[in-house]
Formats: sequence, C-alpha cells, structure tokens
Amino acid sequence: MNKMEIKFDALSQNESFARLAVSGFLLYKNPSVNDMEDIKMAVSEAVTNSIIHGYDNEGTVRIYCEIEDNDFMVEIEDYGKGIENIELARKPLYTTKPQEERSGMGFTIMEAFMDKVLVSSEKSKGTKITMYKELK
Ligand code: ATP
Ligand code: MG
Repeated sequence: MNKMEIKFDALSQNESFARLAVSGFLLYKNPSVNDMEDIKMAVSEAVTNSIIHGYDNEGTVRIYCEIEDNDFMVEIEDYGKGIENIELARKPLYTTKPQEERSGMGFTIMEAFMDKVLVSSEKSKGTKITMYKELK
C-alpha cells in the first residue's frame, strides 16, 4: 500500500496543481496514457466542483490517494456547502450554475472515466467524492 494526502486553498489556480500532484504520485506505476488521462480528467472535475460549488469565498480542498497493487483510489473532499440532492446532482446536464456556462457534465465525466464513483455529502458540512480505478 502507498498513500498520499494534500490540502490546498480552494482557488482555481490550484486546479492544475491538484491534477499534476495526483498524476505525479501515480507515475512510478507506469500507468497507460489512457489511464493517466482518465484519472486527471476525473480529478479535475471533482476539484473544480469543490472550488466552484463548495465555497463562496475561501475554503480548503483535501485530496487523499491510495495505491494497492494496481488498484487506485482517490478522495476529493471539501468542507463547504454540501449537495442537497445527490441523485439529482449526478444526472447528466444537471447544474445549479447554468448562468456561469456550466454544462452539468462533471459527474457524468467522472463516472465515464473511473470504475466507480461514490458521493457523500451533507448540507453545510461538505462533500467527499471517492473514485476507484484499476490501472491496466
Ligand atoms: P460542469 O461540471 O459541466 O462544469 P457542473 O459543475 O454544474 O457543470 P457537475 O459537476 O455534474 O456539473 O455537478 C452537478 C451539480 O452538483 C453542480 O451544479 C452543483 O450544484 C452540485 N455539486 C457538485 N459538486 C459539488 C460540491 N463539491 N459542493 C456543492 N455542490 C456540488
Ligand atoms: Mg462540475
């Protein structure tokens, strides 16, 4: 088992850092380009959601990753507003920010690119996304 944890400010300029930190952690496994792209995309969507939807002003995003053999797991967590209706939020094209040109495809992308996506969220407490992928 190998694991890592980072915490950073919920600012859009930290999105690329988050993506690179996770892919850098995985590199020693020599993942396929496809797996790497899928994971980067899914992590980006979850981190962007925490930054854009989780907080109005400032906040913290935590990422925790584990690798056990070829099984990769990543948690993206914020301590912000939470999601009122998780089932609805996961539906393709559902967005609470249509005026900001959001397309409501973040969760759909996460589900398409990862093997499993779990969402746990509580109003005013925050949101945790847990995603799994077996490296090929
Ligand atoms: P896109 O990802 O296509 O730019 P989006 O972010 O609105 O649009 P999703 O990522 O699928 O779409 O998220 C759907 C909805 O779930 C969001 O509009 C928001 O209401 C809610 N949501 C998602 N993540 C969080 C979060 N971390 N905290 C609070 N609400 C969230
Ligand atoms: Mg989104």
